[in-house]
Amino acid sequence: MPAFRLANAHTHIYSGLAPLGLPPIDPPPRTFLEILERLWWRLDRALDADALGAAARFYVADALLRGTSALIDHHESPSCIEGSLDVIADACQELGMRAVLCYGATERNGGREEAARGLAEGRRFARTNRRPLVRAAIGLHASFTVSDDTIREAGSLCRELQLPLHVHVAEDHADVDDARRRGYDGPLERLHALGALVPGSILAHGVHLSRDQVRMAEAFGCWIVQNPRSNRHNGVGYPACLAASTRVALGTDGFPADMIDELDVLRQLGEAHGESRDTIDRRMTSVPDLVAERFAEAPPGAAFLQLPGDARARASALKRLALERLVVDGRLIVDRGKLLTGDIGAIEADARAHAARISARMREMGRETTGA
Ligand SMILES: [Zn+2]
Repeated sequence: MPAFRLANAHTHIYSGLAPLGLPPIDPPPRTFLEILERLWWRLDRALDADALGAAARFYVADALLRGTSALIDHHESPSCIEGSLDVIADACQELGMRAVLCYGATERNGGREEAARGLAEGRRFARTNRRPLVRAAIGLHASFTVSDDTIREAGSLCRELQLPLHVHVAEDHADVDDARRRGYDGPLERLHALGALVPGSILAHGVHLSRDQVRMAEAFGCWIVQNPRSNRHNGVGYPACLAASTRVALGTDGFPADMIDELDVLRQLGEAHGESRDTIDRRMTSVPDLVAERFAEAPPGAAFLQLPGDARARASALKRLALERLVVDGRLIVDRGKLLTGDIGAIEADARAHAARISARMREMGRETTGA
């Protein structure tokens, strides 16, 4: 029987407020870029440190209760960059979640100065973090929101600190079009040409990568993370070429860290696109390998779950077993479905209060944008 440990290879912990009531997107978005501009980029700009802390505690506590024991996070909060990674890291360490954190540097709000502040936050955090459960990576938002100079600086920071890059790559065709306009074959080639495709890097999505590009990412020792629920929700397409690499893992891209739900959607979409069951399942079972690379060891004392071979029985057993008992780094975190490291009721109530406050701020941003 296979041994599983649940982990999430790409997410946005700051989105923890999203299930608790954010304003409807008005006017409704028609493209991927409109979804970013009207929802996620409004939410991340609206965040302050208190709201981020509440979002992080809720997202992490909810993930632990779903049996997920490690998160690889990609963070942006343009209105509170400095110290933001400590806020998330404290929530992870306190509640008992392994995590790999980065700040996604971007120029989309404040140009090169904003990108420099994002990279500086990554450097500061990597140098000062001593939390046993938390590791650092260097982040870029995506090729299409940064200049060549910012990519070069991110690559040299990775080499200086011996850390991988975590970046969105070819999620939507807009990212590919942008890289071509800048004179590159695509975003992957652009990252490589500017020295940022360092071994161990985490490339989220890869929806619009060709088989050759997927093989190139593997040859450079990079991981690609598929996020089926997010890709379907955003209508960006199915990453049909990822089977060309064995270094492909499963993430939720801001959806709650329920890896069984994510796997179910991957099975539906993957089988419709002719992917084998082994290929599909390996994307979930390989996430702990990615996490272990960042911790430079097989994480000690983690909960391995022995599961039946039949897919349906496995999914239900996994859900039940994970909820029964979760151990991270030798510490019992969830016992008989109860979170032992925090008061889930109080954590949710606090997050709900912040969601209401942040929603009001997002509505205000919408009115400023539309002039209403
Ligand atoms: Zn993402």
